[in-house]
Amino acid sequence: MRFSHLALLLLATCGRSGAPDLAAYPAEEGLTRLCNNPAILGETVAPISNGACGIEAPVAVRYVSGVRLSTPATLNCRTANTLADWVANDAQNAVKKLHSRITGLRVLASYACRTRNSRPGARLSEHALGNAIDIGAFTLANGVVLSVEEDFRKPGKEGKAIRALHESACGPFGTVLGPDSDRYHYNHFHLDTAEYRSGAYCR
Ligand SMILES: [Zn+2]
Repeated sequence: MRFSHLALLLLATCGRSGAPDLAAYPAEEGLTRLCNNPAILGETVAPISNGACGIEAPVAVRYVSGVRLSTPATLNCRTANTLADWVANDAQNAVKKLHSRITGLRVLASYACRTRNSRPGARLSEHALGNAIDIGAFTLANGVVLSVEEDFRKPGKEGKAIRALHESACGPFGTVLGPDSDRYHYNHFHLDTAEYRSGAYCR
């Protein structure tokens, strides 16, 4: 009896539809729905304006589609929505062969007023506009952690899964950079919603 109750509770709260029930999250976290999207939970943030950098209506995202972010990500709503959709669909599909689900993202960076790769004189980074998030690892429900740095070069199903995650982000995000792009991305995926006429740039 207890087991069936638990199973019902899990079914009711695990957010398969990408729309987790607010009641499933600890009340003390004070989370609200963001960007008119029930799949995005976190806190609103005051507008950010800092020279060429800034976000008009920033949000601090704590959960997307039932998946917990290791640290709140400050993003604009377009990017938060893209992240929520990608996690709910393409990203979960990419780990299906591991017979588990993504439950956490290790976030290495989101909004930051800086140039690309923090190089002096380089173009403004998409991070400076709230268009980008850097993800270093994916935590699965079964305890497995898929790390960009540790697993991207590995054969086997974990390596395949993290490469599938990289590929799955290409399209939903306009730019996807990983360890094959340059030395700055050896330990994370850079995902941003910049749009190019030539289509998505993924490497
Ligand atoms: Zn980045």
